[in-house]
Order: sequence, then structure tokens, then C-alpha cells
Amino acid sequence: MKAWKNNIRSVVPYVPGEQPKSSNTIKLNTNENPYPPSPKVMELCSRIDDLRLYPDPEAGKLVEALAAYKGLDRNQVFVGVGSDDVLAMAFLTFFNSDRPILFPDITYSFYDVWAELFRIPYETRPLDDNFFIRKEDYYGENGGVIFPNPNAPTGVLMPLSEICDILDHNQDVIVIVDEAYIDFGGVSALSLLSSYENLLIVQTFSKSRSMAGMRIGYAMGSPELIKAMNDVKYSFNSYTMNRPSILLGAASIEDEEYFQETTQKIIHTREWVKEELRDLGFVFPDSAANFIFASHKTVPAKEIFEAARAENIYVRYFARERIDNYLRITIGTDEEMKALIDFLKRFLNSAR
Ligand code: PMP
Repeated sequence: MKAWKNNIRSVVPYVPGEQPKSSNTIKLNTNENPYPPSPKVMELCSRIDDLRLYPDPEAGKLVEALAAYKGLDRNQVFVGVGSDDVLAMAFLTFFNSDRPILFPDITYSFYDVWAELFRIPYETRPLDDNFFIRKEDYYGENGGVIFPNPNAPTGVLMPLSEICDILDHNQDVIVIVDEAYIDFGGVSALSLLSSYENLLIVQTFSKSRSMAGMRIGYAMGSPELIKAMNDVKYSFNSYTMNRPSILLGAASIEDEEYFQETTQKIIHTREWVKEELRDLGFVFPDSAANFIFASHKTVPAKEIFEAARAENIYVRYFARERIDNYLRITIGTDEEMKALIDFLKRFLNSAR
């Protein structure tokens, strides 16, 4: 073997959901929002100029808009290229202990990839049989804690009291709560920031703000945490966020009415889809996200996944231990979900 091969960093990358080439699909596999961004965002989009200039390295407009919206100081907000970028930066900044960081066994499958990439020791803690995070599993010495709330891909929401309990037991490390899906009915840990300076909350514009294509994510925490993240960011790339993302992100924040209307629509759709799925013989943990993680009582998930795909209906299937009989179904429009339910009725009838 050539000696230089020893110097290559070898990693097993995260595998994102499939992005079908054809537009003739019902796409319920990557938790995108079925509605367009706010009309204010689309209107501003056509007027963006100065692309020949570098963007503001501080992304000031967006940071200020977010800080005002969340009732924070601007030194409590960090923005990045989607929450994946923000989370990766947070792993690099905060998880530098020899002790293992902790996260659930069933969770966002990027966490172990970042831990491997940055050579951070980690251990996973199993969810209970109902897919709930057991808070007691996060007591004891560790190098940091991270979990999504609601968890992904289960959709299960942890009450604030349990998050407080995990924070109370982890005062010597950074605790990251990944709130990618919090706007679909959950209660954010934002109110805890004033009590816990080791808490970092990460959110995204990709789901509830219909802007996955713009790549906007952000973290909120104490000024000390945000400064540490900025120091790492500026040691890596000064211009992580592009000019349109900064401006369009700020425009989205201004349209609260549209944000409320579209997230409420998705919640409403999710609730009737739960009833339909139950009637069809599916079981699932109750979801507070824009997806449902469902298993059929008799028909294997993989068969349903493949049959749906053959009809251009895309849902997500994970061939992983404990969850390989589940489908993660993103909530689309009412029409899309009716098409899915119609397909399931036909397919399950023929499978009986
Ligand atoms: N966290 C969780 C739990 C997610 O499911 C996702 C979506 N893949 C992300 C973070 C990253 O989303 P984005 O980079 O689009 O903000």
C-alpha cells in the first residue's frame, strides 16, 4: 500500500434522503415544507443585487432580525449554512473532552458522523421501547450531550421539565438541543437560556420556514458560547453565509403571519393523517414534528416503501437496527397526503 494513503482522513459520510430528478413525484422523504416561502421572501428574491461583493461576514441583518424576534441580544445568536453547518461547528467548538459525548441510539444520523470526523469520543444511549429518551441515561460524567427535540426520526417531544433535569445533571459540559422541528407544536427551550449558560439551542429555516434550499440555520446561547463558535467559524471560513441567504432569511422573520399560517396548516394535516394511518393498521409514537414515524402491524415497511416509490411517492426508509420496519413520512399538502393514503389503502388491501 502507498504510504500516503495512511494520511487520508477516511470517514463514512452521512447519507441524505433521495432527491428525485423528476418533478412528477410526491416527495415526503426529506421533511421539507410543501408550501413556498413567504411571498415577502419571493418578492425580495428578484431584487437582490451586489452579488459581486462578498457578504457581510457577521451576517448582521439576519443575526439582528433573529435576536429581535427571539428577544435576545445579538451576541447570543450565531448563524450558519443550514443547521448542519451550525451543528458541525458546535461539535468542533464544544466537544473537546476526552470523555464521550452522549446522544440517543435512534436519532439524527449525522451526530455519529461528525463525532467520527472530528474524532470526538461518543456513546449512544438507547431509547426506551416506546422510543422515548430516558433522561437518567444522561446523568454521570460525559463530554457533552446532544439530542433533537422533537427527536428525529421518531417525532417524540421531550417536555421542558425533562430538559431542565438533563441540564441540572450536566452543569460541567455543553448541552445542545437541536430544535429543527420545534415549530410544529413543541415548546422551545429558549426560556431556559437565561438560567443555563451551557445550553445551546439550534434551529433551522429548512422546515418551518420553507427555505431548505437557502441553507439557513442558527444557534442561540450565552454570549460566551456564541463568541467561541464565531472564533471557530472565523478560523475556518469568514463568509459562510451568502448574500441572498442573509437578506431572505431576515425577510422571512418579518412575515410572522405567513409563518403561523403555514405551520398551523401542517399541524392540522398531520393530525388527520395520524387518524387515517391508525385506521389502516399503522402504529407510531405521537409526533410533534412535520413527519410521522410509522410501522404497519403486518406489512413490512420495506415493501411499502418500495411499492410507494414505484408510484412516485417517496417516503424515507432506514435500513438500521431497531427501525428497519418503520417509514418516516413527511407531512405534505392535504392533496399529497390524500394521494399517499389512497395508495396505502390500495396497496395494503392487495397485500392482505
Ligand atoms: N437536525 C435534525 C434533527 C434534522 O433532521 C435535520 C435535517 N436533516 C437537520 C438538523 C439539518 O437541517 P438543515 O441543515 O437543513 O438546517
